[in-house]
Amino acid sequence: MKNSKFILFGPPGSGKGTFSSQIKKVLPNIIHISTGDIFRENLKNETPLGNKAKSYMDKGKLVPDEVVIEMVQDRLNKADVKENGYILDGFPRTLPQAKALSEISDPDLLLLLEVDRDIIKKRILGRYSCKECGALYNKYTLPPKQEGICDKCGAEIKFEQRSDDNEETLKNRLDTYEKNAKPLIKYYKKKKLLKRVNAENTLAFSEEDIKDILEI
Ligand code: ADP
Ligand code: ZN
Repeated sequence: MKNSKFILFGPPGSGKGTFSSQIKKVLPNIIHISTGDIFRENLKNETPLGNKAKSYMDKGKLVPDEVVIEMVQDRLNKADVKENGYILDGFPRTLPQAKALSEISDPDLLLLLEVDRDIIKKRILGRYSCKECGALYNKYTLPPKQEGICDKCGAEIKFEQRSDDNEETLKNRLDTYEKNAKPLIKYYKKKKLLKRVNAENTLAFSEEDIKDILEI
């Protein structure tokens, strides 16, 4: 059996979302599960789950393990995931989450996306999206071709920034990452599932590069 169950792990701004899109070019049916996206969706729709997560997310703190674990468990148990495999983006983030995952599923690889801290800051504090179509841009590294106009949908860009992409919250998110990363990396290293990826320029990866990384 080929590898089909991947964990993406790395600091905020390491490009887990971008890398997931790259993986989907090689494995189009794989299911991308981003816990951050699921929370943001629930927040927007003011669901009970969203209301539970809001205060944590606003401060750049982690949502309690039991809330996240239950949510991921529900998602992983669906038929599409069992059939096509998954990219877990943003989970597990803590050792208890990793242990809970091992009871639900056996991941094939954990890809650790490594990016320099200065680059991370630029990426996060500069990133914004088009309010019309969601296309992602960056003030420093990825501006639209024509200033103020969305490349993808042609609309005049109404600037939309994630509410937790500010200097104060970012510091908390990076500190939280550092604290939790060590034991998690150790745990997956021991299981021989850890693979380090230099993620400073993932957009330059070819399909062959990606296949090498995924070992497929
Ligand atoms: P980033 O990696 O840029 O910090 P995400 O989009 O992955 O952002 O997550 C945004 C927020 O959602 C986190 O700061 C946290 O509050 C919450 N969250 C996402 N995934 C988890 C998780 N596995 N455990 C706890 N909280 C989470
Ligand atoms: Zn657009």
